[in-house]
Amino acid sequence: MLVFAKIKSIQEKLKSLKNGTTIGFVPTMGALHEGHLSLVEKAKKENDIVVVSIFVNPTQFDNIEDLINYPKNIDKDLSLLKSAHCDIVFTPTPEEIYANNIQSQSFDFDGLELQMEGKFREGHFNGVGTIVERFFEIVKPHKAYFGEKDFQQLQIVKKLVEKHKISTKIISCPIHREKDGLAMSSRNTRLTKEQRAAAPFIYETLNKAKIQFTTKNASEVSKWVENEFKNHPLFTLEYFEIADEETLLPVETKVSTKNYRAFIAIFAGKVRLIDNISL
Ligand code: AMP
Repeated sequence: MLVFAKIKSIQEKLKSLKNGTTIGFVPTMGALHEGHLSLVEKAKKENDIVVVSIFVNPTQFDNIEDLINYPKNIDKDLSLLKSAHCDIVFTPTPEEIYANNIQSQSFDFDGLELQMEGKFREGHFNGVGTIVERFFEIVKPHKAYFGEKDFQQLQIVKKLVEKHKISTKIISCPIHREKDGLAMSSRNTRLTKEQRAAAPFIYETLNKAKIQFTTKNASEVSKWVENEFKNHPLFTLEYFEIADEETLLPVETKVSTKNYRAFIAIFAGKVRLIDNISL
């Protein structure tokens, strides 16, 4: 496994590959877990070589404390990637990526960026668009792998490649969960013992909401979820929304031809967790 921190070095390596070598790319922010590794495994099966980036992208953080406290464990990450037979790891610094201008470009994702995470994390998707486009320019992957854990991000990246006519194929990967149902996340390591023990409540609530949505409308289900969190001693609900998977617009009236998904964001103290479920 090769590790590069410089754009020039990784590009030289990628250029030296035999013509026709297919590249699968998995962008991450590190603090890797089995969820990330499932993306690497899928990429490994579908491509000749796999490139994983580890980069905590400053421009996608709306909250400086969250950026500073984002978990980091590069030695463990490299050892996990080696065991997963990753071929190339790209670990640039912010300066390498942004030079001395750590700023996002502005994107129009046809309104996808205005919903949910876009409402609560100002500038987040401009940061995501900027870094994904930059990495695609550097790595030029045939396929890139994104988790449904960040479903809105996945839809936005698909929109980015469509609108900017980028030839990379975006592959979506299912959410990996802990045995008790909690969606795996690098941020889970920041939970206290008590918060971690209570955290399966998030997915349990999503599952109950899914059942309710078969007989109730979205607004009734949302009210029920809000109520469930109202008196929770450890978690504060930021939003719960049932939305159309394609447009991410909140559902008003159910249409049988459309696919819906329920999305949730909660705070456990200062730690923000998101999850979603297909309905
Ligand atoms: P992150 O390091 O959190 O930016 O995540 C890097 C990639 O891994 C993104 O495409 C995420 O959606 C994906 N990912 C993170 N957690 C999970 C999970 N539990 N299951 C599946 N994919 C995940």
